[in-house]
Amino acid sequence: MDTEVFIAGGGVGGLALAVKLASEGVHVTIAEQLKKVSPLYKGELLQPKTLAILEELDVLEEVLANGNKIEHLEFQEVIPHQDREPEEIGNTQLSYHRLAGDYDYALMVPHETIKRVLRDKGKEYDDYFHYLPSTRFLGFVDGEAALKQDGEERTLRAEVYVGAEGRSSPTRRQMEVDLKRKDYNHHFLTVTFPRPEDFTHGKIVTAKEKFLGLFPLPDNEVRTVLMIKAGTYKTMKEQGIERVHEAYELLEPRLAEHVRTIQNWKPIQLMIPYTYHVDHYVKDNMALIGDAAHTVHPMAGEGMNLAIQDAAVLGDLLTWCKQQGKNYSEYLPEYEKVRRPRVEFLLKLSHLSALVYSVQYSWWRDFRTKAVQKFYDDDKLYVKQMLNISGLGRWDFNLIDRAVQGGFLPTRSKRISDGEQLKKMFRKSDDYPWKYKEGGH
Ligand SMILES: Cc1cc2nc3c(=O)[nH]c(=O)nc-3n(C[C@H](O)[C@H](O)[C@H](O)COP(=O)(O)OP(=O)(O)OC[C@H]3O[C@@H](n4cnc5c(N)ncnc54)[C@H](O)[C@@H]3O)c2cc1C
Repeated sequence: MDTEVFIAGGGVGGLALAVKLASEGVHVTIAEQLKKVSPLYKGELLQPKTLAILEELDVLEEVLANGNKIEHLEFQEVIPHQDREPEEIGNTQLSYHRLAGDYDYALMVPHETIKRVLRDKGKEYDDYFHYLPSTRFLGFVDGEAALKQDGEERTLRAEVYVGAEGRSSPTRRQMEVDLKRKDYNHHFLTVTFPRPEDFTHGKIVTAKEKFLGLFPLPDNEVRTVLMIKAGTYKTMKEQGIERVHEAYELLEPRLAEHVRTIQNWKPIQLMIPYTYHVDHYVKDNMALIGDAAHTVHPMAGEGMNLAIQDAAVLGDLLTWCKQQGKNYSEYLPEYEKVRRPRVEFLLKLSHLSALVYSVQYSWWRDFRTKAVQKFYDDDKLYVKQMLNISGLGRWDFNLIDRAVQGGFLPTRSKRISDGEQLKKMFRKSDDYPWKYKEGGH
């Protein structure tokens, strides 16, 4: 055996898994096709559950030092005007502080920084952490991983093979999974540019047919995401960069002069949202994590988080198997049992947010404005929403909640206690049930 666990893909998911395994004395080899950092934008918002995992991996301090804390999210609904400031018709602030416990904030960190921090941590366990850059995983030959590094091909034998290669995954192909892709009627433009120093909280500005997400990064920069109609990117580009400046100014005049620092289309990335969820994560001694298994609509900023959360659960299971002398293949389905329902739930929530912001009628906008306000007015809705997006727990919306949100029932005056909230948070025995079922650790 060349290694105990082979991971194809050194993105956030693969690296988080490798750090967990190496830190617990499991030999892990990661093949990453890229030589250098990727210039692609791939998500920067770390949700509270992911921060808790990064603390378990002993990298939170370093990540915090490179990030900008997001404590509040502002949802502003406006009517834009060409010749004057937009007219505000709704404004709701939701705070991560409403979450019980230590992880009551989110964090914006450049994607490549998170990867660098994880790689550096992995190197501290150099007896167990074997990172192969510029190494492409080609697929399987006689049950072994076929790799191509600097033009040379070779195979590598492992006890467990993990597909963490993102959206196009050779491991997934080998596992013959079924996958149905869902597309949307909108695309996004995303770009980072300077921000005013006091622009520090997350903000989403919406109008009929318009959506602009603003997420402050460190170093007085802001990551922005502008929704456009599917298929209009080329025409916009032909119309010139001024078209982008105007679109931003119309929705957030505070950034008018900042957006003008973008002078051409080069730093602007087109994002085409789509989703899928494979029908199984595990087959024999193979498992999928992160985008190899599922992609989520980017509206909710969950993709990177789901990948790291998958890694934490799979990492714990594999470590436990090794420590208890258990057969990896026999226990791999336990990983899917924990992760699939949680991922399915978040995929649905994100899809719903996408629908809420992409239906383009005035009556829908009015409905949306009131429904978003209800999150603030009704504490149960507020707590459920923050808990669900944080990843720290799950508290499903029921018919009564939806009726309150739709204005068919009055808002409730009861405040949700921390104790009630904590009951809905995942405990260690929910995240890592194998340890508890067998009376381990
Ligand atoms: C344009 C875009 C915007 C996004 N915006 C957000 C956001 O705002 N918030 C958010 O949370 N998520 C966002 N996401 C999703 C997020 O990037 C992914 O969910 C997350 O990166 C998944 O992590 P991963 O480790 O599973 O896969 P990836 O990050 O895709 O990593 C896979 C790695 O595998 C490598 N690889 C691929 N094939 C091979 C191979 N054959 N051999 C060796 N290496 C290979 C790749 O080079 C890459 O480094 C976005 C994604 C994209 C594409």
